[in-house]
Parts: sequence; structure tokens; C-alpha cells
Amino acid sequence: MIIAGLQKSTIIDYPGKIACVVFLAVCNFRCPWCYSSELVLPIKIANQPRISEQQFFDFLRQRTGKLEGVVICGGEPTVHKELPKFIEKIKRLGFAVKLDTNGSNPEMLKDLVQAELVDYVAMDIKSSPENKFYNSILGEGVKFASIQQSVEFLKRGNVDFEFRTTVVPSVHKKEDFSKIAQWIGGPNVRYYLQNFRPEKTIDAEFETIKPFEKDFLEQTAKEISPFFKECRLRA
Ligand code: SF4
Repeated sequence: MIIAGLQKSTIIDYPGKIACVVFLAVCNFRCPWCYSSELVLPIKIANQPRISEQQFFDFLRQRTGKLEGVVICGGEPTVHKELPKFIEKIKRLGFAVKLDTNGSNPEMLKDLVQAELVDYVAMDIKSSPENKFYNSILGEGVKFASIQQSVEFLKRGNVDFEFRTTVVPSVHKKEDFSKIAQWIGGPNVRYYLQNFRPEKTIDAEFETIKPFEKDFLEQTAKEISPFFKECRLRA
């Protein structure tokens, strides 16, 4: 497992908690709009500075009583079979854990929740199931059925969770959001739209794409909000 980054403090990445963010390299998706290419593309990962587990846990021990939580993000954290043991060590230090995931590993997700190793899950919804992009970004061996299983599992409400979508012109059309709402919506579901940032994207062409206007995204969130407990544009 490669720890490729550490944000020492954040008040926006873990709802209601002061947290740090640990970035694990490697991902089994290839979203062309992804702006974390240094955590995804093997050639970039190889050149990325690394933090040892010892350095990370030394940092956490010093932050006991100051930070409340740890956000584990990627890349895709669940591609690492060592992840449960890594989280166990974090939990032993008394931190709450939020997992950011693309939903491709429902088995590990269930195991982590059932073992009470995660307290909050944020799952990316890349698009509506009908949008051809979903299948095109899944890495080798990843099936859309896995995404579906993760959605269904989270909606059962065994852990606090949210779904979120980075909204990208040329990928998403307005009608995608009513289909997403019908797919993932529910009375216990929080769903957030996030605007795309055309920065250091995996596919360089996406750096020339102008993000949607804020008004368009706010209006879209408003229109589908009846499907959710909460739905809004996240800054
Ligand atoms: S956006 Fe997330 S899931 Fe997609 S390639 Fe980047 S890190 Fe992987």
C-alpha cells in the first residue's frame, strides 16, 4: 500500500469533524476528468513522494485529542487488501474513519462496516447506469454489478453515508441526474453534486472543458431533491 499524500487538517472533508486526509495511491478506474492522476497512473505514482506507515502513525499519535477523524481517500483505497489492518490501527488510536470509495469492492465495504472499522462512507456515483461512460471507466475485472451492490448495501443504512457526483460537461447531461435520482434515491440518502475542476486531468482534453455554471448545478440539485433526504451542490 502506497501512502502518497497527507493533508494534515481539514474541516470540510469529513462532515462535522476536524480530520486529516490520507491519500492512498492506485485506482481501478480511469475517469478521464480525474484530477488526481498522480494517485492513479502508474508512471506518475512511481515519481510521487511517499510517506511511510511509521511516519503516518507518528503523525496521528501527535494529533490525538486535536483531530477527530481520518479520511481515507485515493486513488481507490479498497484495492488494497491491507486496508482493513491499516484502519484497525487508526481506530485503535481513537479516530473516527471516513472512507472515500468508487464502490468497486462491495465485499470489502461490507466487511469494513460490519467490523465497525468505518464510521462514514462517501461513494462516488460516476453517472447514471445508462451513461456509456460508466462502463468505459471501469478498470479490468470491475463490473457495474459491483457498483450496484455497494449502492444497495449503503442504502440499507448500516453506516452513515453519502453519494456524490463530480459533474462534468461532455460527460453528463441534465437527464442523467433524473436517472441517477431514480437509481440511488431514498429517504435516508444524502446526495451531493460537485463541480468539475479542469486541472491536471487524466485525459488532457478535459483541461480545456469549461465547468458548468453554478446556477445550472444548483437548479439540477433542486429538481432532484425530492428523491433524497438531502441534495445540494457542494462547494
Ligand atoms: S476520479 Fe477517483 S475513481 Fe476516478 S480515476 Fe480518479 S481516483 Fe480513480
